[in-house]
Order: sequence, then C-alpha cells, then structure tokens
Amino acid sequence: MATLEVDKLRKSFGGVQAVRDVSFAVAPGEMLALIGPNGAGKSTCFNMLNGQLRPDAGWVRLNGQDITGLAPRKVWRMGVGRTFQITATFGSMTVLENVQMALLSHRRRLGQLWTPVARADRAPAEALLARLDMADQAARPCGILAYGDLKRVELAIALANDPKLLLMDEPTAGMAPQERVGLMALTASIARERGIAVLFTEHDMDVVFGHADRILVLDRGALIAEGPPAEVRADPRVREVYLGA
Ligand code: ADP
Ligand code: MG
Repeated sequence: MATLEVDKLRKSFGGVQAVRDVSFAVAPGEMLALIGPNGAGKSTCFNMLNGQLRPDAGWVRLNGQDITGLAPRKVWRMGVGRTFQITATFGSMTVLENVQMALLSHRRRLGQLWTPVARADRAPAEALLARLDMADQAARPCGILAYGDLKRVELAIALANDPKLLLMDEPTAGMAPQERVGLMALTASIARERGIAVLFTEHDMDVVFGHADRILVLDRGALIAEGPPAEVRADPRVREVYLGA
C-alpha cells in the first residue's frame, strides 16, 4: 500500500488556481521529487499535506487513512514529518540535547514517559547522530554550527519522530553543491532503510535527477509529467517549461 495518496487536490487563492486536481502517491522508502518553476504550486501542495492549508477539494490519505483537512499537530502525530527552510533548533543547547528533546517529545506522543528523561534518550540520540555522520558534533551548541550541519540536525530532529512520510520543502536551499548531494544521499539511504516515504522539492536539478526515484512536474498548478528521472528529463513538455523552448 502507498504511504501517501493524494487525489484531485485543489486550492485557489482569490482568482489564482494554485493547485489544480493534483493526484499522486508515494510508496514506503521512495524518494519522490516535486519540481516546477516558481509559483507552480509546490509549497501550496506541501501545506495541504501537513494540514497547514485546507484544500478546496480532493483527498489526502496516509496509510489508507483520510487526513484531509486535519490540523498540523494531528497530522504530525500520525507520522508526517517536515523539515523547514529556516531551521528550528535551540541555539544554546547542544546538538545531542536538541535530538534528545525531539526523542522525548516523540515518546510523549506515544505515551511513554516512565523512564528518566536524559538516560532514556541519550543512547538513541547518539545512535541517530552517528547515522547522520554527526557524532563529532554532538557536544557543540547548535548556535555555532555551520549551515549545512544545522540542516542535518534538522533532519535528525525530523527522524526522531519516526515519520512514515517526510516532507522536505527545498531542503538544500542555501547549501553548497557538495553538501546538497551529501544531505540528499543520506536522506535517501535512511528513507530506504526505514521505509520512509519522502516527498521533496528542489531547485538543484543535479540533486533531483541524482536522488529521486520518481519525479512529478508541476506547471501553473497542474501536473504535466510524472515518471523516473530519465523519462522526465526527455519529456518535451518538461523541456518547454524549463527551457522556454
Ligand atoms: P511554489 O512553491 O511552486 O513556488 P506556491 O505554492 O508558493 O508555488 O504558489 C503557487 C501560487 O499560489 C502562486 O501564484 C502564489 O503567488 C500563490 N499563493 C501561494 N500562497 C498564497 C497565499 N497564501 N495567498 C495568495 N496567493 C498565494
Ligand atoms: Mg515554494
């Protein structure tokens, strides 16, 4: 069964049809890229998937369960994680403490609060940081981290909530090209290992074509192409949108 199913999702702002009858699905462990020019409707789609925006029409299902129009908090509790363009860490706390906090909040969500806080979450937080190649940064305050490292902490925090679906809106914005590839390669390998469905938007086409299993192309609110990277790259409509040819 697909982790996420989206059926004829629609949203207008005044006279602007931002998203027009968009349908797609994401499988467990799949990396699905949503691309399209500025204003194509990518962020609007994301906002409808995590409950920030209520669709005008259409359905969103998570593991077969209808989550259309549910509040962001409920959607998050059901296993939809999201990373943001502006990172949300506590700058004066260390990397390890930030991840421990996220694990604590996840256990609270599951109603598991009988174990002492620091002891219960320290080992899993360290394991998660090691998986993200960040063991050497664990004791550093988040406030002094390089931007690329902060993005990885953000990924660790999202993963601490054990998401079934991870939404990443321009996860590599502001990062150096090699760092981008590194972050997405890591995301892809963890997604496969844990069966997390990942939906991401991205401007860097090297990242998209290098790490997406499948690509959706939006143009003025409508899906104009969908398929594996090689197929989408060769699609004349996609070339037209991107090259203005
Ligand atoms: P993308 O993320 O692909 O750049 P968006 O989803 O942000 O595109 O925007 C799609 C369209 O909807 C654009 O025309 C944008 O101006 C419009 N739009 C997005 N959010 C709002 C909003 N809150 N109010 C009015 N118009 C909006
Ligand atoms: Mg956007």
